[in-house]
Amino acid sequence: MALLSPIRPPPRHDPSLAARLATWRASGRTPRALLWPALVALLLVAQTLLVTLTLRYEEARAQERSDDVAAAALSDIRRRTQMALQGLQGLQQRPDAPQAWSGGAGDLLRQQREIGRIEWRDRGARILEAAESPFREPLFAHWPRADMDVETEVACDAARRVMAPMFSRSQFVPLAGGHGVEVMDVCVPVQQAGQLVGFTVASIVLPLLLDEVRVAEVGRSHELSFVEADGTRLARSGAVRGGGVFIADRVVDLPGTTLQVRVDAVQRAPRLIPNLATALVLGLSIGLFVVVVLLLRDGRRRARAESLLAEALAFRKAMEDSLLTGLRARDRDGRIVYANPAFCAMVGYSVEELQRAGPPPYWPPEQTAEYQRRQAERLTPGAALAPPHQGYETVFLRRDGERFPVMIYEAPLVDGVGKHTGWMSAVLDISAQRRAEDLSRQQQERLQATARLASVGEMASLLSHELNQPLSAIASYATGSLNLLAEPDDQTLDLMHQALTRIAEQAERAGRVIKSVHDFVRRRHSAHEVVTADLLIESVLPLVRLQARKSGVRVDVDVAPPAPRVRVDRTMVEQVLLNLARNAVQAMEADTPLAERVLTLRVRRVAGAQGDWVRFSVLDAGPGIAAEVAPRLFTPFFTTKVEGMGLGLSLCRTVIEQHGGAMDFENLPSAHPRAGPAGLAGGTEFRFTLPLSLPRGPAP
Ligand code: ADP
Repeated sequence: MALLSPIRPPPRHDPSLAARLATWRASGRTPRALLWPALVALLLVAQTLLVTLTLRYEEARAQERSDDVAAAALSDIRRRTQMALQGLQGLQQRPDAPQAWSGGAGDLLRQQREIGRIEWRDRGARILEAAESPFREPLFAHWPRADMDVETEVACDAARRVMAPMFSRSQFVPLAGGHGVEVMDVCVPVQQAGQLVGFTVASIVLPLLLDEVRVAEVGRSHELSFVEADGTRLARSGAVRGGGVFIADRVVDLPGTTLQVRVDAVQRAPRLIPNLATALVLGLSIGLFVVVVLLLRDGRRRARAESLLAEALAFRKAMEDSLLTGLRARDRDGRIVYANPAFCAMVGYSVEELQRAGPPPYWPPEQTAEYQRRQAERLTPGAALAPPHQGYETVFLRRDGERFPVMIYEAPLVDGVGKHTGWMSAVLDISAQRRAEDLSRQQQERLQATARLASVGEMASLLSHELNQPLSAIASYATGSLNLLAEPDDQTLDLMHQALTRIAEQAERAGRVIKSVHDFVRRRHSAHEVVTADLLIESVLPLVRLQARKSGVRVDVDVAPPAPRVRVDRTMVEQVLLNLARNAVQAMEADTPLAERVLTLRVRRVAGAQGDWVRFSVLDAGPGIAAEVAPRLFTPFFTTKVEGMGLGLSLCRTVIEQHGGAMDFENLPSAHPRAGPAGLAGGTEFRFTLPLSLPRGPAP
């Protein structure tokens, strides 16, 4: 009954869920196949763009910082040169007092560390006085000042012409140990009463000027330097080295010359991984990509599940369509929500017709009220259903008006969350089975009738033998009586009385014989009744004795008291006993010595695995069953007798099995081994069991 497993009934008016699913899958397949690659491509492009833009942004930020640092450095350099100029011009106040000049120059050298040396020169630019920076070795200690004076004189010439401070081009001043520094001179003309009286020349050490720049980034994240127009570096500051990528150049315009300041960020071109922002974006991209891949895999799994589901649905539909068993699902109101083709074919109505409201069209009109009552009972919440494997039998009506018996197995329909939604029924058309059963019953009855007739035929000869004696006795008493009447005398009345008494006795004896046969032949109504085993034996005993007497067989009855009770069809079981007894008598007729011809009818109560039984045994002292005969003994029409029908044992076994019992036989060991053709066994025991019927008593 796997078909009756709890499944949700398909929605009403929806004959083919599987077909719809298949159509939906087919329609969605093409766009979905394109959708995923498109999504992946879009994601790739978007992520690449995002990463590139992030990198660009980072670059722009770095460049911007370099520009800012350069601007700040430029303004600081301007400020310092301005301060230097102001300081130098302050020295001119007392040009004639060398003492004062030296003091002022010393102060200025201490304040402005970038100034390496200050000279006081006359109008011809000849050095009169010079002061060296206290912070470093004298500038021209290793190289004569005169050799380095050309640029200074050019600047002083220009200063003389314009009567304003002029800067010289920078030049390299060698120092001890092969080193050297780039130095730029500034020549400030000194005037008195509007006349040029001399010059103040200061040598500005460019690296020191850079060192004095107070910009936070310089020396930490940016390298600051002076470069020439061709990029040659003149001086640099700080311990850090620029990366050469984010460079900002600014020009410092000084009277007489220009200086190019370069700010070079330590940072190189932003790389993909160490950069936090890019790493974040990259991580997100990878995450997105993983999600897409997972989604893809999930999609594929779903597609697979869908295809499996569609297959399963198609298989279920094919199975339901090909089933010969009718399937019907009803909701909790008893309305049909589903019927398979077999059910429709059985009753001759379409699913739509079956789903209409009102009593189902396959209910016979005369039974509708009864069926409605039964259905109402079954639909009552909590009503007990018949166990599914037992089912119940009822009658349905085909569209053509034919009534036919059906077997219905019903089980509750429970959905996925355990809710009772209705009932599923398997409906079997058992009309063919009923026809076959009727046919077999008729055949059985015919066979039994034949067997009975055969027994009757046999009995006819017995009867003639049995009735012969009383009849001939009656005849001779009648003849004697007639003779007495012909010549009456004093004793005639007495003798007549005796003769008539004998006649009555003999007639009664004949009557008994006839009654016993009549009792057997008369067809009793076939019904099961409870009888005691001894009653069964007693019923057949007159006939058995009749047969036995003819063959000189003694009949022993062995029923252990109290006689057990059985519930049987008496006629049938009596016939079984009679058949076995007849076989037993016949078996002893040929070779068994007269003294040993004993037929025993035995009844015992036995305990078995499945309850108590009553065992009936019929024992004879015949030749036993030969090995080649044994396997075919219960085959219909098998016989070893010239006039045998061969039906007896096969019918007997059928009757016993119909009563729930079993029949077998056993060869008995010989008490007196005899010589002879079949003298191996000491007879045969045929036995059969019937279930014991317990007398009704108080419930246990
Ligand atoms: P039938 O008596 O008409 O031959 P049965 O079916 O009653 O048909 O018996 C079939 C055969 O079984 C018999 O022909 C006989 O050979 C054998 N048979 C039956 N009962 C006995 C018995 N008690 N002893 C020996 N053989 C027997």
